[in-house]
Amino acid sequence: MSTKLSDNFQHETCPNCGSNWDGGSIIEEFIRQRDEGNQFWKDKTDDDIRKYVEGWTDDEILAFVDQNMSFDSEEEMQKFLMQDRKDISWHLYSNFNVKVQGSYSPPYRFSRVIGVEIQGMYDGVSYWKCPDCEKTWNRWTGEEEITSIPTHPNYSDRINS
Ligand SMILES: [Zn+2]
Repeated sequence: MSTKLSDNFQHETCPNCGSNWDGGSIIEEFIRQRDEGNQFWKDKTDDDIRKYVEGWTDDEILAFVDQNMSFDSEEEMQKFLMQDRKDISWHLYSNFNVKVQGSYSPPYRFSRVIGVEIQGMYDGVSYWKCPDCEKTWNRWTGEEEITSIPTHPNYSDRINS
């Protein structure tokens, strides 16, 4: 029987062997790395890590703007806050050196699925591959592909997000 990938396949179970492809919470993983002494996260609070992964909430942006910027009127401030989130982020980054955009996309979880890129064929993932049963699926159609792509011996199952 042929299997096909669902839309949210990266965090579901393998349609072929049933193994769990969800690689866990990105925030929890980074907090764990910090607690184990990883230099990149040194001195970062749990909240700093959450902001790094998910970005700032509207309330956090509002509080920052309220404390650090001055406007001629409440209306001017509202006008600033009504801008596209990207424009607000750029302004805060260039003027205050704070990064309010998250570095990851929802659902902020790792996936164990392996993205297979074939050099000379396409600049990006062409196949998704289960790390456990090694079955592969076409990236565009979601259909099973009969291929034989060996898993690199140094493969780590936390590289995809
Ligand atoms: Zn599988």
